[in-house]
Parts: sequence; structure tokens; C-alpha cells
Amino acid sequence: MEKVNDKHAFRSAQFTLAAQHLKQIPEDAGYEVAFAGRSNAGKSSAINALTGIRSLARTSKTPGRTQQIVFFTVDEQHRLVDLPGYGYAKVPPKVKQHWHNLLEKYFAKRESLKGLILVMDIRHPLTEFDQQMLHWCEATTTPTHILLTKADKLSRGAALSQLQKVQNSLTDIEHLVSTQVFSAPSRNGVNQVIEKLNQWMEYPSRAAE
Ligand code: GDP
Repeated sequence: MEKVNDKHAFRSAQFTLAAQHLKQIPEDAGYEVAFAGRSNAGKSSAINALTGIRSLARTSKTPGRTQQIVFFTVDEQHRLVDLPGYGYAKVPPKVKQHWHNLLEKYFAKRESLKGLILVMDIRHPLTEFDQQMLHWCEATTTPTHILLTKADKLSRGAALSQLQKVQNSLTDIEHLVSTQVFSAPSRNGVNQVIEKLNQWMEYPSRAAE
């Protein structure tokens, strides 16, 4: 198993605020990387695994927060952002509309947004939710890195075959999208995500240390 690089800035991420409306969010300056995923895809576990801070993202999971954008400050210039998702269950149209309006505007207007980490369950990738996120990324030319998580649920061969399938179906937008396998419990793939975050945040890479 790869040695996990724990010398990265994201270890100092701290919960800052949860916003229901864009007027409540931090000033649009510096660098921001957002995380999105259909609920239950494994987004909170991925955020926790890569920051190395257990329960960082869980703090945002209290009821009522599912429609909010949650900000974590890394340092004065850098933030991680947990975007709201929704799940398998039918969502009330009003809730979905709020989600849609909020995220559409966030993507269109947010200049500090440098990239999106899109978390998908490796067994059920490219859902309707994911397609919507990819559409906004394409429309706003936001670079996107897909985490095919829960890779520990598949054999190595099956996981690589899923990776290949997803990559093949995204050739139209391959200039904007990269994809990797990931597992929160084994922290497999953490270094690769950190590399991507460092690149987007314009931090020096330390993976070789
Ligand atoms: P979220 O709703 O996208 O934030 O999903 P969570 O991170 O809360 O994860 C949903 C469920 O999947 C939880 O029961 C997690 O323990 C489980 N889970 C998340 N990531 C992984 C993973 O990489 N491997 C396995 N086996 N389970 C995972």
C-alpha cells in the first residue's frame, strides 16, 4: 500500500460557516476547491480521509444543513467547500429548485473556485446528479477531478475497469476532467487527491518528500 503523505496544508482545515444563500458566503478572493457528490456517495468520508481530520465534514451533517454550502478555512487565502447533495429518495421539487439555483449561481459567479472534486460511488458512477455537476463544470470551464470512491468494495481489476469505463465516457470533456479510484478506509488514493488540490490551490507539491 502507498505511504500516505500527511504533510499537507489541508490538515489545518477548520469549519468556518454554513450558508443557505450566496450572500452569506465568504468574500470571493483567494483559492477555493469544492466537493460535490450525491448523498451517500462517500463525500464526507473522502473529505475526512484526505484532511486527516476525522469528523470534519460530519459536523456539517446535522439535519437542515443538507441544503447548505459549508466552508472550511485552510488558511487566509485557501478554502475547501462542501457543496450540498441529494440522494436516492425523491427530493421535494422546492428543495431541488433551491439546490439548483444555489449551485448554478455559485459555479457561474465564483471566481475563487479553482476546481471541483466530484465524488461518486465506484459501483454507481455518473448518476443524473453527477451529469448535472459535470454540465455546470463544462459551462463554466471549471476543472473537475472525479473520485471513484469505495474502491475497496471491488476487486482491483473491477475497480480499474470501472475507471476505464468512466474515462471513456468523458472523452468530450477530457481537457477539463481527470478521474481516479479512491477508498476512505484504506486512504488509497489520498496522495493523488492532495496533488490535485495542491495544484489548484497553487501550493508547492510535497508528495515526493
Ligand atoms: P456522503 O453522504 O456522500 O457524505 O457519504 P458518507 O461519507 O457519509 O458515506 C456514506 C456511507 O458510505 C457511510 O456508511 C460510509 O461509512 C460509507 N463509505 C464512505 N466511503 C467509503 C469507502 O471508501 N469505502 C467503504 N467501504 N465505505 C465507505
